[in-house]
Amino acid sequence: MTDAASPRDPLDALVDGVTIVELDPDETSVGRGSLPNADGVVQLDACCMDGPRRRAGGVAALEGIAAAARVALRVLRDTPHHLLAGQGAQDFAIARGFTVGELMTPKSRGLWIEWRRRLDVRLAAAAGRPADRFEIGYSVGREMSREGLIDANHLWGTINCNAVGPRGEICGVTTTSGLAWKMPGRVGDSPILGAGLYVRQDVGAAGATGRGESTLYNLSSFAIVDAIRRGAHPKDAGMAALRQIVDDTIHPALINARGEPNFNVKFCIVNAAGESAGVALYGGDAVRYAVCTEHGAELRVCDALLTGAM
Ligand code: ASP
Repeated sequence: MTDAASPRDPLDALVDGVTIVELDPDETSVGRGSLPNADGVVQLDACCMDGPRRRAGGVAALEGIAAAARVALRVLRDTPHHLLAGQGAQDFAIARGFTVGELMTPKSRGLWIEWRRRLDVRLAAAAGRPADRFEIGYSVGREMSREGLIDANHLWGTINCNAVGPRGEICGVTTTSGLAWKMPGRVGDSPILGAGLYVRQDVGAAGATGRGESTLYNLSSFAIVDAIRRGAHPKDAGMAALRQIVDDTIHPALINARGEPNFNVKFCIVNAAGESAGVALYGGDAVRYAVCTEHGAELRVCDALLTGAM
């Protein structure tokens, strides 16, 4: 199936925009140069939704092709399906002219080697105890982020970009390499409709970054757009989704001393009128979202639900 898309389609503009970042080797959260899984393999997730056409396309655990959002757009436009995963996603992309290459850079490989070194030390120390390898791996990642080796926003790290076009077309895209050092094969929320992205024509769009499992459990992006459909302002809809995540986060490995999540989640939201919001569990000057209107582009600080350190 093929949709002839207008060259002025806002979804093309969104995908072109995120592709610039995916191809930037210095950026460690999406595409080339992003932080790999526990085995040192970059596996990318992305999806996009086209409100007017009521269509979506996605890829999961895609290897060797940095422009994951472009492949997701091809899934949307060239197939009757939503989600292609793993080798099938790569084969599909190769058949459409994408080339496969090494996505690790000296910077991302160096960070992965340091993570493995620390992990091996911790695993040796934990011998004989029922230690969870991936919980230890996660805590080593948080330690590296506290030490400034990894930007806290890039231990997780995703781009979600949504638009309301000049004719009211609503669309969105989300792209990521997922949680740094993730379990091989782990797919997060980013390519899953309703979790990492949701668009409803004439209502709005929402997308997530942060701990994907928490937005998967609640289909948070769908919940936000549905709250907008029932009359909520984007900010209130986003805060309600964050409160649900706080209520549902009870696993001891995922809460801090105050009993609150020890990870961040952020939503970017826009309604059909072009009103937008950026909300996060934890805020601060560095937790921002970008808005572009007829008056130009600007960075705004996200509204935060919780106070104190993560
Ligand atoms: N949400 C993504 C995931 O869980 C990661 C992120 O946003 O950083 O895969």
